[in-house]
Amino acid sequence: MNPIDLIAKKRDGEALDPEELKFFIDGYVRGDIPDYQVAAFLMAVFFQGMAPAETSWLTRVMRDSGVVLDLSNVPGFKIDKHSTGGVGDKVSLVLAPLMAAAGLVVPMMSGRALAHTGGTLDKLEAIPGFRTNLSIPEFEKQLRDIGVALIGQTDDLCPADKKIYALRDATATVNAIPLITASILSKKMAEGIDALVLDVKVGSGAIFAEPEKSWELARMLVRTAREFGLRTTALLTSMQQPLGRAVGNWLETREAIETLRGDGPADLVRVTLALGAEMMLLSGKMSDPQAAERHLSGLLHDGRAYAKFLEITKHQGGDVAVIEHPETYPKAKHELAIRSRAAGTVAAVHSREIGRLSMQLGAGRTSVDDGVDYTAGIYLHKKVGDAVTPGDVLCVAYSNEEARLQEARPRLEAAFTITPSEVAGDPLLLGRIDFDGETRWDEAGG
Ligand code: URA
Repeated sequence: MNPIDLIAKKRDGEALDPEELKFFIDGYVRGDIPDYQVAAFLMAVFFQGMAPAETSWLTRVMRDSGVVLDLSNVPGFKIDKHSTGGVGDKVSLVLAPLMAAAGLVVPMMSGRALAHTGGTLDKLEAIPGFRTNLSIPEFEKQLRDIGVALIGQTDDLCPADKKIYALRDATATVNAIPLITASILSKKMAEGIDALVLDVKVGSGAIFAEPEKSWELARMLVRTAREFGLRTTALLTSMQQPLGRAVGNWLETREAIETLRGDGPADLVRVTLALGAEMMLLSGKMSDPQAAERHLSGLLHDGRAYAKFLEITKHQGGDVAVIEHPETYPKAKHELAIRSRAAGTVAAVHSREIGRLSMQLGAGRTSVDDGVDYTAGIYLHKKVGDAVTPGDVLCVAYSNEEARLQEARPRLEAAFTITPSEVAGDPLLLGRIDFDGETRWDEAGG
């Protein structure tokens, strides 16, 4: 086989078979096929797409590019949640301890900030000492000991995704449904889980700005997972404005801590409980979603989810004192309040722009090897539906570099749309897809 022939085949819209995909992906992971040929292949997939069967084969080849964990010696129902990426999306930090407190086992493998979206690993590493690079034996031991571990991708698990994702990021080929499907499911299946809940984001801050594309992605994810027998439910949730009020690593970790102490913003709590209820249903521990949400809400309010987060932090080497006293965490050197010039109601907080600006203030990276400024970010004082008068603070931006704040000022002001008329809040929970079908809630408002 020859990589050039396979690129040409894909360029011309033909499907590759399992052997051809294996040759191509394994060759890349081994270093036999260079970046430029894989980049050309990715661009061909971007334009030509992949048949559903081809997407499954790609997923399988990528999963099998490394170790596939066997967690059968870890007792309990193993389940993970994956989000397609959003702005202010700190759900994993709350959901992982919450579900472990509810008796599920959560082997969670997360990513870093990329493009305009944040990454769970960076938010966790904002906690001094927190180790996300556990070895596989450490990961398994922690799952046995406390029922949850939060780690990054290792070189052993799904190396194909690690290499391909970085290349996609550098070649504008992230937004392709077959590539996203294979990327997400290959690494989730390598974790050795029994079931998966997906949070597919919809709206301006989502991976696809067009809502219908998010639905298409959710369908393909559930359909592909089904072919592997991995029980999977996808919720479609709004990313029309950032989730919660905090955007940026430590700001988000702090908001997650507040949520785990029973004092979180309503939208973050709503999405977390809805995803958590799906996890309870998939595990068979509960069968009524409303009862599951009530039970999980109880765990957020009685301190058990918070206690689990402290346990995770301790096990992974993090500074527990910072969690207990978040007010002692160092602040960014500079801050800038953005004030409303108009009276009216906030009609939009443009999430993609807020995400990009947070990254530019220092919260993100331009290349995978860059460091991040944990204290940089944006705190939203007003969200969609809030009334404002001239002079009200819309948001406060934080950075260690004054020049970055000044540069961001006009775009921060433009990220808020204020209208004189009343504005209805955006629906948050938009729909659900599982093996039995699809439900849309957007008309009813979730
Ligand atoms: N999240 C992933 O893990 N992979 C993608 O391709 C997109 C979002």
